[in-house]
Amino acid sequence: MARANKVSNICCIGAGYVGGPTCAVIAKNNPDITVTVVDLSEPRIAAWCSPALPIFEPGLYDVVQVARDGTDGRTPNLYFSTNISQAIDEADLIFISVNTPTKTAGRGAGSASDLAYVESAARHIAEVARSDKIIVEKSTVPCGTAGSLRDIFNALAPSVHFDILSNPEFLAEGTAINDLVKPDRILIGSLTDERSVSAAEALADVYAAWVPRERIITINLWSSELAKLAANCMLAQRISSINSLSAICEATGANIEELSYAVGLDTRIGSKMLKASAGFGGSCFKKDVLSLVFIAESLHLPEVANYWKSVVDINEYQKDRFTKRITKSMYNTLARKKIAVLGFAYKKNTGDTRESAAISVIGQLITERANVAIFDPQVKEEQILRDLAAEHPAQIVRDSVTVYADAISACADACAVVILTEWDHFKTDQIPEPRPDVDLGALHAMDERALSNHHSIASSDSGIDVVDGSA
Ligand code: NAD
Repeated sequence: MARANKVSNICCIGAGYVGGPTCAVIAKNNPDITVTVVDLSEPRIAAWCSPALPIFEPGLYDVVQVARDGTDGRTPNLYFSTNISQAIDEADLIFISVNTPTKTAGRGAGSASDLAYVESAARHIAEVARSDKIIVEKSTVPCGTAGSLRDIFNALAPSVHFDILSNPEFLAEGTAINDLVKPDRILIGSLTDERSVSAAEALADVYAAWVPRERIITINLWSSELAKLAANCMLAQRISSINSLSAICEATGANIEELSYAVGLDTRIGSKMLKASAGFGGSCFKKDVLSLVFIAESLHLPEVANYWKSVVDINEYQKDRFTKRITKSMYNTLARKKIAVLGFAYKKNTGDTRESAAISVIGQLITERANVAIFDPQVKEEQILRDLAAEHPAQIVRDSVTVYADAISACADACAVVILTEWDHFKTDQIPEPRPDVDLGALHAMDERALSNHHSIASSDSGIDVVDGSA
């Protein structure tokens, strides 16, 4: 079977949480390949070119320094640029790693993925490309998207040959570098004609620079597109399953942590993603479940659509339930009470706040007229205020919220401490004594070992624990 030429120049369209780290790891492990990550956003590219990277991810800077700056003495081969046309022109393989948000955010309703960014990237490629290209879907897309890309290329650039592959990304924010360096699997989806198979082999060779061959799986193009959606939906479903059980625990006297431990010991089930929380967050889980709901509805499979819709419904219910428990435990009123909220990112080890449960929980605390004191080790004040102002009038947010520079100050004189992100900082920081004149909310601490000395956070059999979502 003919093999495609070795890839020598990669362009990645989209310098976000996926495009940046993925290309940094590819470049580091393939010193002979030039890798250029491009984006429409000038500030984002400027940050990627600086010491202050636009995203926080443990281990990322070390990898970027090696590939971008040649800190180990090698020739740099990783570039970040806003010159998208030039990068497309020079590349023989192009990753499309742009955002694919939900088209219309419907609370619990099935909504399609917005493919406007994917289409715009494809049109840009078609306008500029003068030589054959391998196009790789890195973004999470609905099953069948490769067919739409083919139509765009055929219509706009009929003289150029494009091989379209699906190569979804399974990294989770907070552990992205580890996930990229030691992936469970690399999935490459292609058609079965000879050129497509050769293109898939060329992409596999890029990964084989550091990933064992047996972990690089080549499958059918449509299976690959759907597998990414299915994986995220099943992870979200596990979180909603354990969260739904937490409500039963609270009503019966069962303990959700004991339950989770006991259930997770079954090797058919396993213990990962079985921690009850205030609900999953992040930019992926909800949108990918909604995308699957939309696909099922489009295929006239209402029972299937309803099944997956319940995963999102339970998540909304859990966030709401969590906040109601806070209110109930404080004489049903939070008016003018200082509530400390530790953690705003949707999970630890990231500064990403997209769809964070904190936005919804704090929004309800504001509605209850609480004085909310927030601390997160990675999320800046302006980001917190911007996220909250998207849901509430900006003036009310400014009047209700204070962002602190450390956990201790945020908790001082607080009536209750709500831990929404399981940052390790909160396991070791000493939380100050509570204000003596108020009864404190019975909120379940994130980690009882760390906070057991602090009597203001009463341990309860609540299933409500920490936010634990991942992409
Ligand atoms: P992101 O929003 O962080 O980054 C996307 C970037 O693409 C943005 O910087 C945007 O400016 C840029 N962009 C959009 N259209 C463009 C265009 N036409 N030309 C150039 N740049 C353009 O998104 P992300 O979190 O990196 O996610 C990207 C994709 O990967 C999504 O489909 C997502 O579902 C998927 N994914 C995300 C994660 C995650 O943890 N974030 C994990 C796996 C998969």
